Amino acid sequence: MIKRIELILSPKESHDDNFIFEITRKKLSLKKSDNLHIEKIRRSIDARSKSPRVNLLINAYVNELPKEQPEVKSFYHKVTPNKKVIIIGAGPAGYFAALELIEHGIKPVIFDRGKDARTRRKDLRALQQFSIVNPNSNYCFGEGGAGTYSDGKLYTRSHKRGDIDKALKILVEHGANSEILIEAHPHIGSNKLPGVVQKIRESILEFGGEIYFDSKVTDFIIENYSIKGVIVNDKEEHLADAVILATGHSARDIFFLCSKKNIHIEAKPFAMGVRAEHPQAMIDEIQYRQKIRDKFLPASSYKLVTQVNGRGVFSFCMCPGGLIVPAATAPNELVVNGMSMSRRDSKFANSGIVVAIETEDFKKILGEIYTDEADEIRDYFKKEYNVNELPEEFDGLLIQSIIEKRFFNASGKETQQAPAQKITDFVNGKVSSILNDTSYIPGVYSYYLENLLPKFFSERLKQGFIDFGKKMRGYFSDEGMMIGTESRTSSPIKIPRNKIDYQHIQIRNLFPCGEGAGYAGGIISAALDGQNVAKAIASKFK
Ligand SMILES: Cc1cc2nc3c(=O)[nH]c(=O)nc-3n(C[C@H](O)[C@H](O)[C@H](O)COP(=O)(O)OP(=O)(O)OC[C@H]3O[C@@H](n4cnc5c(N)ncnc54)[C@H](O)[C@@H]3O)c2cc1C
Repeated sequence: MIKRIELILSPKESHDDNFIFEITRKKLSLKKSDNLHIEKIRRSIDARSKSPRVNLLINAYVNELPKEQPEVKSFYHKVTPNKKVIIIGAGPAGYFAALELIEHGIKPVIFDRGKDARTRRKDLRALQQFSIVNPNSNYCFGEGGAGTYSDGKLYTRSHKRGDIDKALKILVEHGANSEILIEAHPHIGSNKLPGVVQKIRESILEFGGEIYFDSKVTDFIIENYSIKGVIVNDKEEHLADAVILATGHSARDIFFLCSKKNIHIEAKPFAMGVRAEHPQAMIDEIQYRQKIRDKFLPASSYKLVTQVNGRGVFSFCMCPGGLIVPAATAPNELVVNGMSMSRRDSKFANSGIVVAIETEDFKKILGEIYTDEADEIRDYFKKEYNVNELPEEFDGLLIQSIIEKRFFNASGKETQQAPAQKITDFVNGKVSSILNDTSYIPGVYSYYLENLLPKFFSERLKQGFIDFGKKMRGYFSDEGMMIGTESRTSSPIKIPRNKIDYQHIQIRNLFPCGEGAGYAGGIISAALDGQNVAKAIASKFK
């Protein structure tokens, strides 16, 4: 007999397998002679009641055992070099595409501009401690992509996009804690993710894939509207039967390369704002109504959303017990993001608080920016990426870049020190005389942030913080501080593809993929997109 049961437990009980076993026996009125095996299906926290409860969904197997599920890995076989696919980018989209190709017997060859996950760590240290930004190795670029040194949240709203359970199983088979298979809000953490990513690399190599680091794709080889291969590091030519372009939202060189090669790209809505930081204890008190958090409860999170003047203002990538990190990908820009360790035990809670921008807003926002300032960035892009013009598709990227530069220039020190302001002072139009403690290692200094943000953002952020204070009492208080700028929430440019065969709308055998192409927003959705693109390639080859 198999019975599905929902148990409502205290946080302590939910950690006690003996208790769970006994209470299930009781619920099912089992006899002493009955054998019971419990399979946990889903665990979630319900913080709405007076004291938080844990809802645990289980399958109870009475006098029988659950069927063993085969490992995803058992479907991998050594690939033959008959068909070869180049994957640009070793982020979640690229690595999961490679594993899926292997499952279909196709050889993946991956090029990433960054370093392997372990070596990359040194560059992150230099960025944190000395404000040295390596344009090829940073929080966005390198093995595992932007997801490696992140919070490692693994939930996604894109349930229609693919088999989430399979993606999670692959992570577990490569070293992630099996708890991620049952948690309603699974996460891995920055201390564990690099190990998982390295093991995925080992699988790809073991089954005949190839992976090259320090290998930046600098050109595409295109003949008669069909991609034949790529040029790596300006000199090496590599040919393949198809190319997956999975370079993430920060590979600006790729957007410019597409534009130069007349590969169709489009402007895309995105979101920008700041990162808000509060003491974790305060967020716990609001969410759990406990002065000191029950040791069996995880650091609490929040999700906030409101509408101000027709645009969404919302929390993004909330990191409980996390750290704010410098996520710039080039010198002379300041970008922040958030990460956490698996235990989520820092004393801070942070999240991006961002304003949604539609493409029709771009001109209005640019109108709020001095022409000289915009021209300076335009000239920088033209020189850096060797283009004559900056077409309209780049307006969103231009806005993103102007604001990142403003935040960088504000200190006049050319460092990754970030301008910051208490949330209440921002809303009340005051410079903060004292700032709060922060997790941001390069450090913060007080600044009147309204001067760095176009009115489009600052007006909406102000009202947004007031609204959030009503939804979570205490959120809008002196204990909250904002740090900027949070600008890389998603790609401001889309590389469009056909819905059916996933090929670029104009270039055959080119498969735009993941977050940079505008088809994902987060680790799992990027991984699912990688799998879907690989499946489309496999069916094309058939
Ligand atoms: C600090 C931080 C924390 C985050 N936290 C979370 C989180 O907790 N949960 C979540 O779901 N998402 C999180 N994200 C977002 C998530 O990491 C991304 O959505 C996801 O990694 C996108 O996957 P991708 O494979 O499409 O692109 P990316 O991960 O961006 O990977 C792109 C890869 O392409 C490579 N590349 C770029 N240009 C070239 C080139 N010209 N040649 C060769 N290689 C190139 C890069 O080096 C990079 O490795 C976080 C991001 C950051 C920066």
